[in-house]
Amino acid sequence: MKYVLILGGVISGIGKGVIASSTGLLLKTLGLKVTAIKIDPYINVDAGTMNPIEHGEVFVLNDGAEVDLDLGNYERFLDVTLTRDNNITSGKIFQHVIEKERRGDYLGKNVQTVPQITDAIQSWIERVARIPVDKSGEIPDICIIELGGTIGDFESAPYIEALRQFQYRVGQENFAVIQVSLVPVLGVVGEQKTKPTQATIRQLRALGLKPDLIACRCSEELEARVRSKIALYCRVELEQVLSVQDVASTYHVPLLLKDQGILNYLTKRFRLDCINITPEWQ
Ligand code: ADP
Repeated sequence: MKYVLILGGVISGIGKGVIASSTGLLLKTLGLKVTAIKIDPYINVDAGTMNPIEHGEVFVLNDGAEVDLDLGNYERFLDVTLTRDNNITSGKIFQHVIEKERRGDYLGKNVQTVPQITDAIQSWIERVARIPVDKSGEIPDICIIELGGTIGDFESAPYIEALRQFQYRVGQENFAVIQVSLVPVLGVVGEQKTKPTQATIRQLRALGLKPDLIACRCSEELEARVRSKIALYCRVELEQVLSVQDVASTYHVPLLLKDQGILNYLTKRFRLDCINITPEWQ
């Protein structure tokens, strides 16, 4: 099983969901089976009790679970059927750990965020990643994990730590990170600014995760000079910096990513050399 973790920096609502779905779709065109998990670090057990004006519409899965809209994106982009467990919330994780504690499963141990909560997160991901999500009934090859919110949020700290540990649990060659960042275009001169991206990548590294791909959301295509600057200051190769500019329809995002070689990078990174990287639709 290979895992692709999508994180966001600088601001929320930056397009993580669309990039997660698009990456999954592209991997699927290689003939791989793709599933997805959305992590929402809020304490609500699910989105059913949340105000739609503040949070957006709730998406209802086939099993009746009321979940974040992103699960709807995954189902549409990936043509899969997900279950309530594909949406992890802090409410669900806490409930699970507290039920175990009440049953005495921890054998008198002091139950803490590390390791009990972080272990519960890792086991949940590993279990759900293996649930078949399409008609074939086969175990997926790739699991896309999207962490909601923004890197550095107080609420997401246990998830970042769990995922930091998780990369060693599953092996570095099976775990890739895509950090979605913002490149604002400032003022009348229209200059593309890289500082927020540099800061968010520094923060990511400080938390023990390193970016495989930096997906830069920008109102316009990244200039070559800006791309080189991001690569240099964030210590990645040029091919690891992707421009994800505003497009008329989010269904164009997979093509944007594909044209910048995301599949070449991920197949190399995951050592999927046996895979024919010419997508089915070419
Ligand atoms: P997040 O998961 O980070 O909260 P979403 O993926 O839900 O962000 O995207 C937030 C909004 O931005 C959505 O309305 C989505 O359609 C839009 N969006 C995302 N990427 C793009 C893009 N490249 N061009 C135009 N709109 C986009």
